[in-house]
Amino acid sequence: MTHLSIPVDETFKIAQDYTSCLFYGLGSDGTVSANKSSIKIIGDATGQYAQAYFQYDSRKAGGTTRSHLRFGKNPIHSEYYVKNADFISCSLDTYIFKFDIISNLKVGGTFLLNTNMDDATLIASMPNRMKHLLAEKKARFFVIDANKLALEAGMGRHTNTTLQAAFFYLNQQIMPYKEAEEWMKKFAKKTYEKKGMDVVQKNYDAIDKGAQGMREVPVDPEWIKLDIKKVIEDTGDTYYDEYVSVIDRLDGDELPTSAFLKHELADGTMNENITFRQKRAIADRVPLWNPQFCIECNQCAFVCPHATIRPYLLDEKEVENAPEVVKAGLKPAIGTADKTLKYRIQVATMDCIGCGLCVSECQANKVALMKDPKSQNLALKMVDAKSQFAEQEGATVHGSLRCLRRLRRSSLLSPRQPALRQRHARRQRDRLLLDLLRLHPAHPVRQR
Ligand code: SF4
Ligand code: SF4
Repeated sequence: MTHLSIPVDETFKIAQDYTSCLFYGLGSDGTVSANKSSIKIIGDATGQYAQAYFQYDSRKAGGTTRSHLRFGKNPIHSEYYVKNADFISCSLDTYIFKFDIISNLKVGGTFLLNTNMDDATLIASMPNRMKHLLAEKKARFFVIDANKLALEAGMGRHTNTTLQAAFFYLNQQIMPYKEAEEWMKKFAKKTYEKKGMDVVQKNYDAIDKGAQGMREVPVDPEWIKLDIKKVIEDTGDTYYDEYVSVIDRLDGDELPTSAFLKHELADGTMNENITFRQKRAIADRVPLWNPQFCIECNQCAFVCPHATIRPYLLDEKEVENAPEVVKAGLKPAIGTADKTLKYRIQVATMDCIGCGLCVSECQANKVALMKDPKSQNLALKMVDAKSQFAEQEGATVHGSLRCLRRLRRSSLLSPRQPALRQRHARRQRDRLLLDLLRLHPAHPVRQR
């Protein structure tokens, strides 16, 4: 503010006599809990000094978490973020496209990524900046498919135990893995014994799989020659591009005071109706609609907590102009006066959080599974998210408007229905209204 600041040497690194680790996790995926357990294990088992600090974003579940951990033989007085880490772990592979993770890695450090991509796909997809930094820092790069391993161990979506074992396996300078394994299993027994020995056994299996399920991806020294320009796609919304997007990339600390003043946010407020631009892509599995078995009940849209699965009605002209992927998934609309209308359920896969509520509430699925618990005739089922990212939103303004009208007429809005359902219906209607305003600012619906 006074323009008297001392210039900062960005290359300056503080000498450290401890091991520092940085973990990028997804809010509620268990990364923070696993790290809390790791510091207890290391503190108790090795007698080392341990320091931990956890950063969360305001969304908590589904947001980004960062865990800053340090371990050493001497007292640790580093009251700042880990920026020169010996080890970095990333629980979600889509983060590598969004965040500048490797710039926080020390020369000779280790990077662990949780991904289901094979080496060729991963290397082809990795941003140049990441490859360049891995080569420049002579890093060791490991990958693990913790989601698959956790599923095999019976742990469902909880990858934290598997990733914790991988962390100990790759950081044997802190403590030998055999010892860490015993401590992890002891902790798992203490925590889950009350839930039964089968739950404890699942944790044991997840630990074993975590240590054995990693592979090293060779870092090509030639990657250092790659151009490392930061490519940021602008949306055209100045507020989003200059302010929200910077915070979303975890670069909010770099925002100058003028950015707050420019957008009149000096009191810390944020503008509304902006999350639809984020496209967080945090789900590893998303619903896939099969028109053949759908009964057009719209229950999937009503239960979705993020309004990311929606029903649409398209007229002939819209069908004609629609992308091939939309044309391939249409069915005649039921219960409309206009018999030419087509119906489609559309999932915004990059906004979906993968909770699976729509699938479990799908009325067609319920009937099919009641008749045959192993039935494959499902209108909605969860599939790998990456296979669906290319097939983003086929929505149109007119389709949204028709759907909105239909929701207004819906019997779920009847006063006889439970209050909770009415709230869901209203929320769905409001989201559709927002959609219309965003896509078509001059639409008459705005004037109401
Ligand atoms: S999985 Fe969850 S967030 Fe995704 S569309 Fe279904 S209900 Fe919505
Ligand atoms: S809940 Fe199932 S049957 Fe109903 S509209 Fe959605 S996909 Fe179709």
